[in-house]
Formats: sequence, structure tokens, C-alpha cells
Amino acid sequence: MSQAPASPVILPGATLGVLGGGQLGRMFVHAAQAMGYFTAVLDKDETSPAGRVSHHHIRTGYEDPLGLSALAQACAAVTTEFENVPAASLDQLARHLPVSPAGSAVAIAQDRAAEKAHFVRCGVPVAPHAVIETPEQLAAVGAELLPGILKTARMGYDGKGQVRVKMAEELASAWEQLGRVACVLEKMLPLAHECSVIVARGRDGQIVNLPVQRNLHRDGILAVTEVFEGNVPEVQAQQALAAAKSVAKGLQYVGVLCVEFFVLQNGELVVNEIAPRPHNSGHYSQNGCDVSQFELQVRCMTGLPLVQPRLHSPSIMLNLLGDLWFQDGDTARTPAWDQVLALPGCHLHLYGKVDAKRARKMGHLNVTAATPEQARATALQAAAILGIAPF
Ligand code: ATP
Ligand code: MG
Repeated sequence: MSQAPASPVILPGATLGVLGGGQLGRMFVHAAQAMGYFTAVLDKDETSPAGRVSHHHIRTGYEDPLGLSALAQACAAVTTEFENVPAASLDQLARHLPVSPAGSAVAIAQDRAAEKAHFVRCGVPVAPHAVIETPEQLAAVGAELLPGILKTARMGYDGKGQVRVKMAEELASAWEQLGRVACVLEKMLPLAHECSVIVARGRDGQIVNLPVQRNLHRDGILAVTEVFEGNVPEVQAQQALAAAKSVAKGLQYVGVLCVEFFVLQNGELVVNEIAPRPHNSGHYSQNGCDVSQFELQVRCMTGLPLVQPRLHSPSIMLNLLGDLWFQDGDTARTPAWDQVLALPGCHLHLYGKVDAKRARKMGHLNVTAATPEQARATALQAAAILGIAPF
């Protein structure tokens, strides 16, 4: 197979585009602008977090051919912050300019069934599961997969599109509840904890990684990420890193990729899912590492060199959900940022979302310190001030 000619490096001064205007797009825009790039965001929402801080904001949907061609015109390269951008839109853009990650890799991450098949191809262990697309497949589910979680194959996030199923008799109504769309039934596993790894892979195949992140989820939503030496036992950390690299390589991936894992109570490591973009569990890198996941995204898409990031401070990230904007039921309040920012090593990141809603990600707080114990003590103090349950 002949190799495509290497694209030239895209230097600061050029315009970089991102599909999607959410918080990940906003933090990408901030990183790109800090490095001297101009930015363009494509998102139909007038008040999108990224659109509001970008030099250019193209207000159309992801499938609008005119919007896509305006983006291609304005930019030297394009990335995405949202994995449910139609792969066909990425492919359309790729005919005109470098797009990373590629539509083919994003298409796999969009579909839990395809994603699991890819993990198996890479020799990375997955949870026992069955693909459910027909009533026959539903009827054929074996008792060994129960209790389990029925998950829609596409469009799930933050635990949405999932129903827990204890007994075989509940399967039909669970599938009904999910609209009888294509699903994956996964066996419910006994988790000791969860972790994730973020890798960045360049056009030349070079891979660098952020340190393994230990994650705590509440109600299916990431609540806390802790990163310091020894956060995850060394054996599992090494396995997770090797698995993440092999998943990225198997996709011929270019860009930032997050791979989420379960660590089981017996010590086994099982891959959960991938995100073809920077990830909530990597936000600590903005303050805890010398290169953030968003700078890695800029470097990947422009062909700039990838350097191995270094964690310079033990770090804890607390997600700030919209619930913190309410007191005793429905009374609106502003969280006591002044009190939190009086604590050493607290870095506040708010996404500029117009309305606070329960379970909506409004921002995050990165806590850095000289030692893991100090980071933890400060993070617990901040959590107490904000009304986040201790962890
Ligand atoms: P996100 O996109 O926000 O990461 P999601 O909606 O794609 O989330 P998953 O990652 O599949 O959802 O699941 C959310 C959480 O639910 C997991 O992080 C884990 O805590 C729990 N969970 C999911 N699948 C299983 C399983 N098979 N066994 C035990 N717990 C699980
Ligand atoms: Mg997940």
C-alpha cells in the first residue's frame, strides 16, 4: 500500500476548527489560542461554551453541507469534541483538509458493539456481553449475563441510555424502555474501582500518554478523578497503558483518545469504552501536568511534535454539576467560589453555560498539591464548601 505524502506541520497563526461547541471544544479553543492559533467552532447553539470564546463560530448543525464547507474554507485542520458527529461529515471535511481523529475511528467509538469487537481484535479483555438487535437475540440471552446493564449501542453518555436488568423477565421491558434500538447487554461486574488512560497518537504513529487516572462515578457520571503515583496498583496501571496504546494503534488513530477501564475485585482489568477526544477524566492535566490533553489535541492535529507529558503535582479533579447551583430543593444559589479559591492549589474552570441544571456538567475544580495527602485534604475541604459528598 502506498503511503500518503506527509502533510506539512501547521504552525501557529493558522486557523484550527472544532466540531462541537461544548466544554471540551471551549477548552480546546483556549489551548489553541494560547499557542497563537485562530479558532473556528461549528455548533448550531448561539450560546455554546466554545462558540462564545472562539474567533469564528459557524452556527449550523453537523450535517449541514454549507456549514461544513465554510469550516473547511476557514481552517487548516479540523478536530472534534463530540463523538456523535456523523462520520460522514468528518469524511466530507477530510476531502479538503486534515481531520483528526478520522471518521472511521470515530464511527467505531460511536457504536458500543463495534467498539467491543475492536477491543477483542486488539486482544484487550472486555465484559461478557451480547449484542441485541432483534427479539430473537433478546430471547437468546443466557443467564450468565445477568444481572446486567442494557445499554443503547449508540448515543449514550453520562449513564443515559442504560437500564439495569436483574432477571430475564425484565429484559423485554428494559428494551422497550430504550425504544427497541440496537443495544448491548453487559454483565454487571464487581468493580473494585475504575480508571482511564489518555493517549495522544501523532500522524507518524508516535504515542505519548497521560498518567493513569483513577475515577469515581456517581449515578453513572464522573464525579472525582485522582492522579498521583500509586493511585492504581502498578500492575493494573501498566496493563491499562499497554491496552490503551494497542487500541489506539489498532485504529491507526491520530489525535487524543481516552480508554476507560474497570478494575474488578479479583484484580482483573476490563476495558469499558473509548472516547475519541479529550475526556473529563483528563481535565486535571490542565493544572497537574506540563502538557494538557487539549494542548495534545492541538499538537496532534497540526503535526507538531508530541512530547511525553509529565505530572508535576499530585492532582484531584472534582466535577461541578448543576446540582451545586441549588440549595434545599429548588432555591437557586451561586456556589461559594471565593471560599474555595481561598484554599491553596484550587483551580476553577467554569464552562460559561447559560443555565444550571441538575446533573449537567457546569465546570470542574482541579486541586494540585505537593503530596497526594495534601491534595486530598484540600479537595475534601473544597467538596465540603460546595456541597459535594466526601469521597
Ligand atoms: P460516559 O460516556 O459518561 O463515560 P456512558 O453513559 O457511556 O458514560 P458507561 O461508561 O458505559 O456509560 O457506564 C457509566 C458507569 O456505569 C461506569 O463508569 C460504571 O461506573 C457503571 N457501569 C457501566 N457498565 C458496568 C458494568 N458492566 N458493570 C459494572 N458497572 C458498570
Ligand atoms: Mg463511560
